[in-house]
Amino acid sequence: MTTFNTLPLKPALLASIETLGYTEMTPVQAQSLPPMLAGRDVIAQAQTGSGKTAAFGLSLLHSLDPDTIRLQALVLCPTRELADQVSKAIRKLAANIPNVKLLTLCGGMPLGPQLASLTHDPHIVVGTPGRVQEHLKRGSLHGGGIKVLVLDEADRMLDMGFSEAIDDIIGRIAKHHQTLLFSATYPDEIRKVSQRVQREPVEITVEAPVEEKPSIEQRFHEVDPAQKIDALAQLLAGEHAEHALVFCNMRRDVDAVAEELDRRGFSALALHGDMEQRDRDEVLVRFANRSCSVLVATDVAARGLDIVALPLVVSYDIAHDPETHTHRIGRTGRAGQSGHAITLCTPRERPKASNIEELLGAPLAWRPLKVAAPRGKTLNLAPMKTLVIDAGRQDKLRPGDILGALTGDAGLKADAIGKIDVFATRAYVAIRRELANKALEQLRAGKIKGRNFRVRPLG
Ligand code: AMP
Repeated sequence: MTTFNTLPLKPALLASIETLGYTEMTPVQAQSLPPMLAGRDVIAQAQTGSGKTAAFGLSLLHSLDPDTIRLQALVLCPTRELADQVSKAIRKLAANIPNVKLLTLCGGMPLGPQLASLTHDPHIVVGTPGRVQEHLKRGSLHGGGIKVLVLDEADRMLDMGFSEAIDDIIGRIAKHHQTLLFSATYPDEIRKVSQRVQREPVEITVEAPVEEKPSIEQRFHEVDPAQKIDALAQLLAGEHAEHALVFCNMRRDVDAVAEELDRRGFSALALHGDMEQRDRDEVLVRFANRSCSVLVATDVAARGLDIVALPLVVSYDIAHDPETHTHRIGRTGRAGQSGHAITLCTPRERPKASNIEELLGAPLAWRPLKVAAPRGKTLNLAPMKTLVIDAGRQDKLRPGDILGALTGDAGLKADAIGKIDVFATRAYVAIRRELANKALEQLRAGKIKGRNFRVRPLG
C-alpha cells in the first residue's frame, strides 16, 4: 500500500529508489507525494529524518525536463550544511536521469567559481536565500523558468532572518510555480508565509510515532576558541539552566571552566578523575540535591553520574569521536522528558562535527550564536544549598534524625528541606537557598539526636 511503485513516478526515479534500498514510503512521503506529483502546493510538518528530502526531491525531479536547459527547480535551505546534504540526496535520486545539472549556491563561499559555473543554466539550484537572491539580482541566475520552489526547514530560515530574502526571491522567479514548504514546526509566522506564497496548499502533519524516543533538541554553535567561555555563560544564563552537565575534553579545562562559571555567579562545580573519592562524592551529592546547578566534567568522570534526566547537556568541547558525543547526548531527554543538547565547536573542530553528522545520518542543526561581551556578574545560583554535618552512619545518624532536628521547635517546614544523604562519617542536607542560614542556626543551636555535631555550609 505504501510502496513507491503505486505512484505515477518516472521509471528512472523508481530505479533510483530501488538502488537506494527504499522499500516503503515514510509517512511524510506517503502523504505528500500524491498531491505534490499532482502539481498541488503542499505545506508539510516534517522533521529531519522523516524522509522529507526524498519527498520533495522526487517530486521536483518528476516534473523536470532535462532537455530544456533552464533553471526549473529551486530549493532554499537555512544553512550550507543542509544545502550540501539536500544536493547530495537529489543527485542520488537523479542518478538514472541523464544530464541533470544541479548547482549548490551558498553564502560563505567565494562568488567567482559560482559565477563561472553559472555560464549555462543549471536545472536545479539548492542554496541559501541570501546567495540565491544575490545571483538573481545580478542576473547570473534566471528564475523565469522555475516550476518548483521548495522552502526546506522554513521555520529555521525565518529564525535566521531570511524572510525578506525569500519574499524578494519569489518576486524574481516565474509567477506560476508550485511551492512546497517543509517545516519542523508551525508557528504563526509559517502560516503567514504559507498564506503569502502558496495557493490552496494541501496541509500535511504526521503524528510522531508512539515509540519515538524522548525528544532531544540538539544544537550546534560555531564559536571562536577565545569566545567559548563567554558563549557557555551566555547559553547557560539564557537557558535558565538549573541542572546542566557541561563536558570538557581535558581535566585542566574542567577546573578552569568550573572556576570561571563560579566567578560569574553560577553554582558550578568540577568533576574529574583526579579528585579524591570523598570530594567526588560530595560533588555528586551537591549536583543531585540541586545545590550545584552546573556540573563540569570529563567523560570518564561523568560515568559515575546517576541522574535520571538532565534538561541540558553542553559539550563545551566537541567530543573527539561520534560515539562519545552520542553518550553525552544520551544523558538528556531521559524518562520521556525532553532535553536540550548544545555543542560548541571551533572552526578547527569542524571535521569532528562532520563525523558526528555522518554517524547521525542527518544534517546537524547549526545555529548562529552572537556572543556578547560579559556583563559583569549576574547571579544564576542553584535553588538549594548544602549543609554538611560531621557525623554519619558510624554515629547512628539517620535521615529522619536530621529532618527532625530541622523541623522541630518552630524550625523549618518540610518543603524547605531537600535531599538528605548520610555517609559513614558525614551527612549532607539540601536546604532551600534562602532558608539555609536559618537551618544552619537551627542545627547549631539545637541538637541532633541529643548531641552537638559540627555543621557547616558548602559553597
Ligand atoms: P531526511 O528526513 O530527508 O533527512 O531523510 C532521512 C533519512 O532517511 C535519509 O538518510 C534518507 O536516505 C532516508 N530515507 C528517505 N526516504 C526513505 C525511505 N522511504 N525508506 C528508507 N529510508 C529513507
